[in-house]
Amino acid sequence: MSISDYAVERLTHIQSKINAACLTAGRKPEDVTLIGASKKQPANLIQKFVDHGLRNLGENYLQEAIGKQNEMPKLAAHWHFIGQIQSNKTKTIAQHFNWVHGVDRLKIAQRLGKQNPRTTPINILVQLNPDSELTKGGVTLEQAPQLCDEIAQLEGVSLQGFMMIPKARELATEQAAVFAQAKTLLETTNQRFGLAMKHLSMGMSGDLTTAIQEGSTMVRIGTDLFGPRT
Ligand SMILES: *Cc1c(COP(=O)(O)O)cnc(C)c1O
Repeated sequence: MSISDYAVERLTHIQSKINAACLTAGRKPEDVTLIGASKKQPANLIQKFVDHGLRNLGENYLQEAIGKQNEMPKLAAHWHFIGQIQSNKTKTIAQHFNWVHGVDRLKIAQRLGKQNPRTTPINILVQLNPDSELTKGGVTLEQAPQLCDEIAQLEGVSLQGFMMIPKARELATEQAAVFAQAKTLLETTNQRFGLAMKHLSMGMSGDLTTAIQEGSTMVRIGTDLFGPRT
């Protein structure tokens, strides 16, 4: 199979999963953005997926991402930074990405806003860490509303919602409950502080369907889209 045919096949596969989940949930497929989690995938493969309609890419590692951006300077896609953020890297992140998932400190948001080289704001998602896992970034559900209120007042950034990577649960109902908590928190935080956050970045290869059923607006798919990482 040519790499072009492969890209079409994988994109069709994921889009039909998204469509099926939306149908069950009574949602519109256009309200769910597919982000190709393209870490450890080569530029020539990513290029083919974009040629066939993928419009959003998520990268975790800064140097790797910049290398690919330089290889594909005219790529018709939005770049999302979905990795852990070190505060001494915010300037480079601000230069190379217009979406930053995984913000979990006010200082990071302040720096991104100040260092944003464009006139359009950088879109920010606050990362939730519902299981308080030490290996993952993010704030607790209790801490999140206050952080949102503070970030919403900054210039140069636009607060868009929450992102999370919950650990896998055995029961689908338990997995669903964690995603549902994020949606509820988005609504209550909007009400409490008069905000208009719209996005929930949740759902990966293993839990896409459940995440969409619980209100995800951005799914970050790696292996189920591109195949195994190199
Ligand atoms: C790698 C990664 C993904 C995609 O994971 P898959 O299981 O391969 O779909 C999504 N989100 C983040 C933050 C990642 O690091």
